[in-house]
Amino acid sequence: MNETSNANVDAAEIARFEALADRWWDTDGDFKPLHDINPARLTFIDERVGLDGKRVLDIGCGGGILAEAMAARGAKVTAIDMAAAPLAVARIHQRDSGFDIEYLKSTAEEHAREHPERYDVVTCLEMLEHVPDPSLVVTACSRLVRPGGQVFFSTINRNPKAWVMAIFGAEYVLRLLPRGTHEYGKLIRPSEMAEWIRAAELELHGFTGMHYNPFTRECRLGGNVHVNYLAHSSKPEAQ
Ligand code: SAH
Repeated sequence: MNETSNANVDAAEIARFEALADRWWDTDGDFKPLHDINPARLTFIDERVGLDGKRVLDIGCGGGILAEAMAARGAKVTAIDMAAAPLAVARIHQRDSGFDIEYLKSTAEEHAREHPERYDVVTCLEMLEHVPDPSLVVTACSRLVRPGGQVFFSTINRNPKAWVMAIFGAEYVLRLLPRGTHEYGKLIRPSEMAEWIRAAELELHGFTGMHYNPFTRECRLGGNVHVNYLAHSSKPEAQ
C-alpha cells in the first residue's frame, strides 16, 4: 500500500458496511443490537465525562447512532468513518434530527495528524475488531484527546464463550447480525486492549462488561467481560 493513510484499513470490512448502509437506522434491522445497546453505553459515557458542551470525536461512527445520541446530550461532535455510504446516511439522518455533527471520511491515524489534542472525549465503539492493527487506532486516540481528556473503547472478547455468543449465536442461530460481521481471530482480549492502552500512554480506569439480551432487547452494564465489554481510559494531565 503506497498511501500511509490507508494502511490500517481493511477494504473488505469497509465494503461490508458500505453494503449495509441503508439499513443503519432500521431499529429492527441489521443494526438492531447497536440501537438496543446505545442508551446504556451513552449513559456510561455521559456519567463519566458530562457530555454537555464537550468536544467529542466518535471514531468508526457508521450511520451515527452514538454520534447523534451524544449530540442530543449537548456535545459538539465530530464523527469519522472510512465507509462513504454510512457517512452519507448519517448526514441525511442528522438533517431530519436537527443536529450539527461534523461527519468526515478519515481514519483515526490521519485525523490525529491533523488535529492532535483537539478533543475532550474520544469514543471508538465496536470498531477496533474490524481494523488490521487496532493498536495503531488506540495510539491515534491518545494523540487526539487533550491532556485530562477521556477515551472509551468497546469491543468483543476472544474466547470460546465469546465465539458461541457473539458469532455462532448472533450470526448463525439468532441471525441478529449478518454472517461474517465478526471474525474470531480479530476479536480482542481485555489483556491485549490493556496493553495497547498503556503503550499509548493512556491511563486505564477499568473494563465494564456489556450484557445484551436479544430476546428482551435489554442491555445491562457491569459484571463479567467474557463477551462484550467497554474500556474507560484517560490521558494524564500535562506536567
Ligand atoms: N461505532 C458505531 C458503528 C460500529 S460498526 C457504533 O457502535 O454504533 C463499525 C464501523 O467502523 C463501520 O462503520 C466501519 O465502516 C468503521 N470502520 C472500520 N474500519 C475503519 C477504519 N479503519 N477507520 C474508520 N472507520 C472504520
